Amino acid sequence: MLSLFRLPRSLTINQVPKVFHEDSIISGYRHPCSSATDCILSLFQLTNETLNIWTHFLPTWYFLYKLVTVVLMNTAWHDSFSWPLLVFLASCCTYPLASSCAHTFSTMSARARHICFFFDYGALSLYSLGSAITYSAYVFPDKWVNSIFHQSYVTVAVVNTLVCTTMACYSRLGVPFLQYNHETLKRFPEVKTPKLAKALRILAFAYPYLFDNIPLFYRVFLCTGEGCTDNGANILHYYHIALAFLTAFLFATHLPERLAPGSFDYIGHSHQLFHVCSIMGTHFQMEAIEQDMASRRHWLLTHSLPISFANTLGVALLSLVLNLTVITLFSLPLLFPSFSLKRKTK
Ligand SMILES: [Zn+2]
Repeated sequence: MLSLFRLPRSLTINQVPKVFHEDSIISGYRHPCSSATDCILSLFQLTNETLNIWTHFLPTWYFLYKLVTVVLMNTAWHDSFSWPLLVFLASCCTYPLASSCAHTFSTMSARARHICFFFDYGALSLYSLGSAITYSAYVFPDKWVNSIFHQSYVTVAVVNTLVCTTMACYSRLGVPFLQYNHETLKRFPEVKTPKLAKALRILAFAYPYLFDNIPLFYRVFLCTGEGCTDNGANILHYYHIALAFLTAFLFATHLPERLAPGSFDYIGHSHQLFHVCSIMGTHFQMEAIEQDMASRRHWLLTHSLPISFANTLGVALLSLVLNLTVITLFSLPLLFPSFSLKRKTK
């Protein structure tokens, strides 16, 4: 059956250009100039990317099911209190979908690989904004509700998405037009200074996560006395936080494959575990948010900031447009040689 599709043979690390190399992964590489059809068919062939794709593609449908359920069951469009949850669930569908698409099509060419992961980073930034919008609406401890920090929290989160998408995209190739263009793709800082590139990317994901979680960390770890919102959702928040730190640990350390390069090429390497932990963390985060939303609804509606189109769906759409603009700026010199040439002749 598989021979009908003539699946290409997978390659070793020495057979693909450096830009495709993964730390401590020796075999299972797809051809670096695969066609779109080859990329899609590779979902059904065991390569070092297969489980990276499926571990985010299947959860996309789980979160989409949750989103549709909320829309249909709660008549959410008429209930503005549900809008932050809708934004969050939409972001929970977007980031695994963008990630699975990036992993699927990243071997079409070196340029395609960079553009794929630019979208992946943008989707992660939007997920952090989705978290911030729901935390602002449902998770802030009673003590901090309506504080100056609360009032400026979502605005700062929007700025963070721009800073972090820019930083993550920059970590791959540098500044578009100035440090790379269509012809000089080989001058990428990721290969010259891989540790700096990795550190920038970790910072780009960790910083918005830590910022978003300031009210939650205060609520579950530091707050004492009245107004700490100590309810049944806290245990779910703990699960989410533990999984988030495990996710970051796996991303940063490349364990277990660093201990035995080549032994986890197909199954069990850190990126697959990173995907699984991120999805489990998002699941518990969603459960915690839903529980806070249900148990605090009455109190929040009378004491917290009003929920409007502008500070939920509006701000998410604005951030989507701004992040797409950043991704376009980083992608243009890779897509069109004329952009680089025009600048040169000026
Ligand atoms: Zn990934």
